[in-house]
Amino acid sequence: MSYEVRIETKPMSTFTPTTRTQVKRLPKRGAYDRETVRKILDEAFVCHVGFVVDGQPYVIPTNFGRSGETLYLHGSAASRMLRTLSEGVPVCVTITLTDGLVLARSAFHHSVNYRSVVVLGTARLVVDPAEKMEALRLFTEHIMKGRWEEIRWPSEQEMKATTVLALPLEEVSAKVRMGGPIDDEEDYSLPVWAGVLPLPVVPAEPVADARLNTDTKVPAYMKGYKR
Ligand SMILES: Cc1cc2nc3c(=O)[nH]c(=O)nc-3n(C[C@H](O)[C@H](O)[C@H](O)COP(=O)(O)OP(=O)(O)OC[C@H]3O[C@@H](n4cnc5c(N)ncnc54)[C@H](O)[C@@H]3O)c2cc1C
Repeated sequence: MSYEVRIETKPMSTFTPTTRTQVKRLPKRGAYDRETVRKILDEAFVCHVGFVVDGQPYVIPTNFGRSGETLYLHGSAASRMLRTLSEGVPVCVTITLTDGLVLARSAFHHSVNYRSVVVLGTARLVVDPAEKMEALRLFTEHIMKGRWEEIRWPSEQEMKATTVLALPLEEVSAKVRMGGPIDDEEDYSLPVWAGVLPLPVVPAEPVADARLNTDTKVPAYMKGYKR
């Protein structure tokens, strides 16, 4: 199988904030540099896709992949989310990583350490078979690097049953909260534990499928898996 190589022009190193993506509350936590955004997108693999149908907003959790300045979504060709978005309905995609619980001395100053990204735009239906296959490869590799080369690739029938959408990363913001609690000065003397409970994503032992051929070993790329 061969893939078409797409040559992309190098984008500016930061996204330009718009009236819709300017972080308003605690703006110093806002970030628009592409490096910060890319790191968040590459560490996460679940996003929430918001769109409106007949005046009703829906926010649907789904997986995604990234290639350069494009976010890829995929799913059943029958999916309302994908059908709606392929018609050019505006979309908001949100990605969130929760890094830790921030425990302050007062209820008011409790917080969460997080890194999140909001992408606004309009998705494009991917029709070119080479781009579609490449998006599915990226998608799989985004979740488990090394997996694609080992598995059976989608058949023509499976490709037909799958919709892939491309969302350009153009109108984008990130917001990041790091560090310990910020208490009111008079509360620092309170006899209450304060600090951060980190919440890293740590994989547990793999559970083999009941029908797995017993001589098929856990693949090397799964050992030491981390996001
Ligand atoms: C972590 C994660 C990853 C996923 N990855 C993908 C993916 O890559 N591709 C994909 O197509 N789907 C994915 N899904 C499933 C996705 O959330 C939708 O269920 C799916 O797209 C079906 O869409 P639909 O158009 O049939 O549902 P819709 O017709 O949009 O849904 C109808 C109604 O069903 C309910 N509903 C639908 N999905 C959910 C849900 N997840 N949780 C609770 N209620 C729901 C809602 O009330 C919704 O209004 C993922 C879900 C999760 C949680």
